[in-house]
Amino acid sequence: MTGLWPHQYEAADLAFRGRNVIISTGTASGKSLAYLTPAVAACLDGGTVLYLTPTKALAADQLRSLRELRITQLRAATFDGDTPFEERTWVRQHANYVLTNPDMLHRSILPRHSQWSSFFRRLRLVVVDECHGYRGVFGSHVAQILRRLRRACARYHSHPTFILASATASEPGVFGRRLTGLEMDEVTVDASPKGATTFALWEPPLTELRGEGGAPVRRTATAEAADLLADLVLADVRTLAFVRSRRGAETVALTARAKLADVAFSLPYTPTHTGPATDAKTGSTANPPAHPTTTTHTEATHAQTTPTPAPPTDPRTGSTPDTPALATHAEATYTGAALPPEPPADVSATADPGTPSDPETTADAHPGRPRERGDQPSTQPGQPPSSLTWAIPEQAETDFNDLADLPNKIAAYRAGYLAEDRRLLEKALREGTIMGLATTNALELGVDVSGLDAVLIAGWPGTRASFWQQAGRAGRDGQDALAVLIARDDPLDTYLVHHPEALFGRPVEAIVLDPDNPYVLGPHLCAAAAEIPLTEDDLPIFGPTTAKVLEDLVAEGMLRKRPAGWFWTKRERATDLADIRGGGGNPIQVVESSTGRLLGSVDEPSAHTTVHTGAIYLHQGETFLVELLDLEAGVALVSSANPDYTTFARDITDISILSTERSQPLGTGTLHFGEVEVTRQVVSYLKRRLQSGESLGDEPLELPPRTLRTRAVWWTLPASAVAPLAEAGIDLGGAAHAAEHASIGLLPLFATCDRWDIGGVSTELHADTGLLTVFVYDGHEGGAGFAERGYARATDWLTATREAILSCECERGCPSCIQSPKCGNGNEPLDKRGAIRLLNILLSPQ
Ligand SMILES: [Zn+2]
Ligand SMILES: [Zn+2]
Repeated sequence: MTGLWPHQYEAADLAFRGRNVIISTGTASGKSLAYLTPAVAACLDGGTVLYLTPTKALAADQLRSLRELRITQLRAATFDGDTPFEERTWVRQHANYVLTNPDMLHRSILPRHSQWSSFFRRLRLVVVDECHGYRGVFGSHVAQILRRLRRACARYHSHPTFILASATASEPGVFGRRLTGLEMDEVTVDASPKGATTFALWEPPLTELRGEGGAPVRRTATAEAADLLADLVLADVRTLAFVRSRRGAETVALTARAKLADVAFSLPYTPTHTGPATDAKTGSTANPPAHPTTTTHTEATHAQTTPTPAPPTDPRTGSTPDTPALATHAEATYTGAALPPEPPADVSATADPGTPSDPETTADAHPGRPRERGDQPSTQPGQPPSSLTWAIPEQAETDFNDLADLPNKIAAYRAGYLAEDRRLLEKALREGTIMGLATTNALELGVDVSGLDAVLIAGWPGTRASFWQQAGRAGRDGQDALAVLIARDDPLDTYLVHHPEALFGRPVEAIVLDPDNPYVLGPHLCAAAAEIPLTEDDLPIFGPTTAKVLEDLVAEGMLRKRPAGWFWTKRERATDLADIRGGGGNPIQVVESSTGRLLGSVDEPSAHTTVHTGAIYLHQGETFLVELLDLEAGVALVSSANPDYTTFARDITDISILSTERSQPLGTGTLHFGEVEVTRQVVSYLKRRLQSGESLGDEPLELPPRTLRTRAVWWTLPASAVAPLAEAGIDLGGAAHAAEHASIGLLPLFATCDRWDIGGVSTELHADTGLLTVFVYDGHEGGAGFAERGYARATDWLTATREAILSCECERGCPSCIQSPKCGNGNEPLDKRGAIRLLNILLSPQ
């Protein structure tokens, strides 16, 4: 293997010398070569290698590339839920390169370590690929699984070297140490060649439409992305659009295709021309449409900077005197065969901030991720090829065919496609039969597309790290590229398009995890004791809180303490205690009542808000009405429906302070961090008309309260500081509520989480503090490290929060600043001016 880049060589060399290393560089920087070199060498030398990825799809891809090396001594095999039992024995006994995931390690390999003894005995190298995915609670679980792995290896007298591969992250060495518990060198300089990338920050304009509380509604990021995608494809620019939800990606592709169909059908010589191309834009299609608030910024860290590359003029369209223009009302003129299942994004966005199946817009008061389990690539079976939303067009023979084929140049992609389909798609992109692709970040799982000219990012992807990763897809063979971030209706997006300095020249986020979380550690100590009884010598491996957690486990009767150590004596499987990807509780199955068809599952915390009786539930673009939620049976029965309203769950939330761990003054107020108990009960749901947003009234619900013990950051202001505001007519409750919403929206800028990982409570007068108090808490049992990060970065975080509210040009609050898509109180009361005043007090020097 020759021709390694210096960063690849450095990482490989460290691993050769037995040093643990994390390589943290951008997309397409060839990280795999850095670990493949020492890994193959270990196998040739009689050793074994364990390769871990978060998903089965990625392991399958890696296996394919290993087999392509055609090295006979390399006996690589995947070991996951799909591996047939008869093959498992072969893998255990003969494979020397085993590709698996943390779930399999946790549930199958470690509990049966004795069957793997010959593999463990020779284990030289553990590769942890795509390890930036191991953040928050999931990351904390993986950290403990890796500690159990180290302990199992020690039993067989092997001490493998760990090599971690991560997307760009801040302080990767610190993260690597937290993840593995081992000293870790870091390699971060990416020496692969890159052209200059021009960045555009794009804020969609406000529309005439009105949303909750009469707030103005922006044109949606998906509608803008569809326009840009169509424009760029028409200009022969190979473009990838990242859209947050699967449904959003499909909408973008369908809308952009419809626009291209208009272009094709509106040409004079098109025989099937059926209607007038209304509202045609007249600008040249080679330039993106003019826009009210667009900032372009050329990333300074690249070798050179260039102005926005003018996309080459399409020879086909450029030859006609009147450039075919894009119709802006796709639904009015589109006559193609495959009509979009929904109205185009810009119309469906009229009044409601979203539809309940969209992860980013669900009206879900629970901070736990409301995603369906069915969406997870690792658990979703491959889709049959017939379900693909793209087709490889025949080679065009004439100009006319070429134009008629235009819509087929745009496709949508989502997780779950079979490997062959992914290869077909890669080929189509490479050859230019597909020029535009809309996708969720599922694309990160196994499609190799690097030859792109432009990347559109519809909605902030959550972290600077994933922003760079997605933007890094643009730029083929060192050529210049374009990346556009299109803001959604969200305080964080608003802040970023108004503050490019928060994006550029800033380090990416650190990856946050908390392996010492007792709710994570406890179950893994039980699993570890079941594998090999725990002794005093094991305590340092599992961290400083181990002794205390063991004591609690013994008191609860989970473990037995004997002179030789701690033992698991129960009949149950100890590994069942840890729900490593979990939203907690048992998932609720969503079943179509007339057919018994299983549509998917929703984790239990989310079920109260998304599939309560009477809820409108969306599944893959289809609308269902929930007839009955039976929590005891774990089933939600639904039937196909087409109502003209949508539903939003309302809840009552109480929070009480269990202990205050840290406090510090902040302006005239005080900031705290500690343990809290959150009790929330979904009490009713609101029906709202789809197009107008008009309220159709509340329906009561009877659901049990749920409690969550977690960690929170909270701030208080003394009565003397807020009294003048009340006198000035400010609604203190509304002001605190607005500040809470906006601060939840901005925390992801400082901690690697998204707003669904955290929740908040605000009150003019809290029983435990006796003061105006705003809480922001981790939405996971025991905490996940996010609130703690907020405490550590409070001044920056709350300053950014104030800036986001100030930056928004709306008058009294909108989804871009203080409204929250998951508010349990229907975004009432909110006081925008008051929120700024409160934050001013909090941020003023004492
Ligand atoms: Zn606003
Ligand atoms: Zn709220």
